[in-house]
Amino acid sequence: MVLTDQVASVSGADGADLMSSRCKDLALRLAKFPRVALGHLPTPLEPMDRLSEILGGPRFWIKRDDCTGLSSGGNKTRKLEYLMADAQNQRADTIITQGATQSNHARQTAAAAAKLGMACNILLEDRTGSNDVSYNMSGNVLLDRLHGATVSKRGGGADMNAEMEILAQTLRKQGRRPYIIPGGGSNEIGALGYVNCARELVEQASDMGLKVDALIHATGSSGTQAGLVAGLAAIESDIHLLGIGVRAPQEKQEQMVYDLAVKTLTYLGSAAEVARSDVRANCNYVGAGYGVPTEGMVEALKLLAETEGLLFDPVYSGKGLDGLIDLTRKGHFEGMDNVVFLHTGGSAALFGYPDTFELPGYVTN
Ligand SMILES: *Cc1c(COP(=O)(O)O)cnc(C)c1O
Repeated sequence: MVLTDQVASVSGADGADLMSSRCKDLALRLAKFPRVALGHLPTPLEPMDRLSEILGGPRFWIKRDDCTGLSSGGNKTRKLEYLMADAQNQRADTIITQGATQSNHARQTAAAAAKLGMACNILLEDRTGSNDVSYNMSGNVLLDRLHGATVSKRGGGADMNAEMEILAQTLRKQGRRPYIIPGGGSNEIGALGYVNCARELVEQASDMGLKVDALIHATGSSGTQAGLVAGLAAIESDIHLLGIGVRAPQEKQEQMVYDLAVKTLTYLGSAAEVARSDVRANCNYVGAGYGVPTEGMVEALKLLAETEGLLFDPVYSGKGLDGLIDLTRKGHFEGMDNVVFLHTGGSAALFGYPDTFELPGYVTN
């Protein structure tokens, strides 16, 4: 099924008209790609007034991609709309993908496969070496299995792409038609979901009479940021985009995002160009490594839970928030009025990390 999002028409200043017509052009370009409806879109854009009050500085907003639907939501839904449509076009009957033990991508892929009547094989890489039962069996792992996926584990550092290929060969010999989705759904097909998100956000903000100065989010396998970079470039938006890294060092992360953004624009058939300097990642909030909790993440996550009633995850969005809060305190957003944090989801992973948060005891009487 091919979907075309409704394009809002913005009247008013010439600049707004121009932006509106660029968004419309981008929507038409995107409509040429097969897409299956999985998400609850557009996601809300809401103010975080209590956080803004606590931090001072700009007004903070949250783009609720934790509310995309599909097994408790998250950023993989938008990518899977394009990836699963491609799988259907190739008449696949089985999806193969991979991720870390508490992969949100794996959980959302399992749900998408279930909804579309496909089998799903998930390979989980043990990146943290944790023996914790909750980490290994609860949270996203519980949900993967609840959605009927076949889950198998691989050691940390395994060549997961090679492992997926080996599995695909085996399945082909059994007469199946496997389709491999890369880790995080991050290729030029999946990134289209975030090209569309960039368009959606700009139109939504315009409808609300809001001028967005900066957009911040957690960046990992790079498809989210690459899609946003490509989408913002296609509509010539000057929103300051910043990814907060959760794994790789800055240079590597930025190069990954840049390469995929360029690839995505080519795939899209857009003549827009991305400057390497427009790709920014701050990787100072990773801590000891991917999936390993940090003090800043714990504090940020608790602060937002207690002041905004919002849930984040320890691996991605919690570290992203830590970056948002710390950078605000360091003056990174000085002179800006409206800063949007893209909530990429992941709260299901909280149940894989039950002992990470030292919480006050119950009151028993
Ligand atoms: C996958 C994920 C990200 C990172 O997105 P990438 O496209 O892989 O960079 C951020 N937050 C959450 C909750 C995720 O699951």
